[in-house]
Parts: sequence; C-alpha cells; structure tokens
Amino acid sequence: MKKRNGGLISQPKTHCPVCDSIETGLKYRIERHAFDVWQCNNCYSEFQYPLPPSANSYYDEGYYTGAAAFSYQDERKKEYYHNFVHRARLKSIQKFCRIANGNAAKFLDVGCAFGAFVRAAAHHGEAYGLDVSAYAVKEGNKTRSEVNPPAQLFQGDLAHLPRSTHARKIFVPASFTAITLVEVAEHLAIPRTAFMAAYKLLQPGGVLVIQTANFEGWQAVKGGADYHYYLPGHLVYYTASGLKRLLSDIGFREFKEFFPVDFSLWTKWRKAWGDVRRMRDLTRLWKMSFYHLKSKFKWRGRPLTSSYVLYARK
Ligand SMILES: [Zn+2]
Repeated sequence: MKKRNGGLISQPKTHCPVCDSIETGLKYRIERHAFDVWQCNNCYSEFQYPLPPSANSYYDEGYYTGAAAFSYQDERKKEYYHNFVHRARLKSIQKFCRIANGNAAKFLDVGCAFGAFVRAAAHHGEAYGLDVSAYAVKEGNKTRSEVNPPAQLFQGDLAHLPRSTHARKIFVPASFTAITLVEVAEHLAIPRTAFMAAYKLLQPGGVLVIQTANFEGWQAVKGGADYHYYLPGHLVYYTASGLKRLLSDIGFREFKEFFPVDFSLWTKWRKAWGDVRRMRDLTRLWKMSFYHLKSKFKWRGRPLTSSYVLYARK
C-alpha cells in the first residue's frame, strides 16, 4: 500500500540524483505529459522517475527547428538582440573568475545549440561548444565567425567528450576558465557525473555557470504540478541549496547566486526589444520587468520567483 507521508508517498524508493539520498518519494503525477515527479526528503530536489527510455531522442532536428512538441527556440535570427545578454554575461563571468595572470580565457558552453553564446565568447578568448545534437553542431559550425580563432562546436556532452585527435587537444583537464550550462542542468540524468567532468576541465579559479529553475522559489512551490517547468526533457528539478551542496561535494569552493539572472533588467529589455512587433508586445515587456523586480525579493527565506543562476568557482 502507498502511504502519504509529509506530502510524499513513501514507497517504493529510489536514489536522489542530486544528493544520492534514498529518502525519496513520489510527489506529483504530471498528467499533461504523463510522467511522475519524485522528491528527495534530504535536499528537496525533484526528479523524473522512472526516466524516459531515451531522453536524447528529444534532441533531433525537430527540437531545434521548432517542429517538435517541446522544442528549442532557434535564436539565430535574433542573435543581434541575444548578444546583449551574452556580452553582459561574459563580463560578469570574467569578473568572478580568479585565473592566474597570463592564462588566456578559454570558454566551453555545454548544450550550445547553434552556438550563439560561443561566438560571442570567441571575442574574449578560445571558445568551444558542446551539444548532443549532430544537427545543431553541424548548422552552428556553418555560421561565419568574425573572429580568429573562430568558435568551434562539437557533438557530445560532459560525460561523453568528443574523442577525435583534434578534440583531445582542446578538452584538456584544468584548461578552461569558464564552463556554462544555460537551461541545460535540468536535462542531465546524472548531474554529479557531468559536474565532476566540468570540475576536471576547469582551471583552479575557473567558474562553472548554471542557469536552471530553483524549486525552493515560491513560483515553483505555488505552481505545484501545474508549474510550466515540468517538461518531458527536464529530468532533474534542483533546489538552490541541493545544487550548492552537490557542487561543494565535488570540490567547488565559492558561490555567487543571482535572482533571477546574472544580467540587468536593462540588458533583458534590449534582448526582448527584438521580439517587439506591435503595441501589445509592450505588455510582455511590462510583465517581464515586473517578474525581474519581483525576483529580487524573498519571503520566509525563499525567493518569490524560481529563475536562478549560480556561479561556482573551482
Ligand atoms: Zn537529494
């Protein structure tokens, strides 16, 4: 018999993918997408269980062209506007890095899609991207680069780094100054393995950047099973404290948290301006501004919203 226990149904149990605790239980059935969400009683992270049979099958051509049901929005046409965010983020990352004098910047964007962020980073140093999709990597590498050396994208992920002779010279331990995972960490079935690989690739003083939803935020708490972040490709739903604990375990030493993001409202506005076509689009800008300002406040120790960016220094 399944029994309710503190909001969780306590039997049977599976390990938490964030803290490895066995104290886990079913929390929600997400009816609209037909999957179950479990929660850990130790770090309060949530996760899909059982995992979908082949999560990587979500990221075929349809995902990147917008043809699939849960797809990535192709940002290439709006790269001019998105670059406002990329540049602000790069500035913020470089400020947080503590790299030995003389070491050149070397960036890796994991889940880079068509590589817009990688192309922006190439203005500041060597810049590489990784993506599980052969389609996105091939398309992204066709984009003309304005800098030399140009941005280079590879197929793979942190647990399966590319192994060509050329790639082996790039993916060298302790060589990267910054590794970014923007809306990617929630897609990882085994986050610990990926973050350990990132730790290994980073130079001492280098920074890991993770943007994902924080399930400690009131937006997620109040949204319950209806919260829009519950999507088939999202396998792990982190709490800020659980994520920091996992990264500390791996060896990351210093953290900086941003609510909602690591760039200003002004930067957000400049990016969003690319989507303004008619008067009513301005309503969206107003909502976006309200959300941004709301994110700066906490109630009972929890941020009001769930947007979250974490910088972790090796
Ligand atoms: Zn846990």
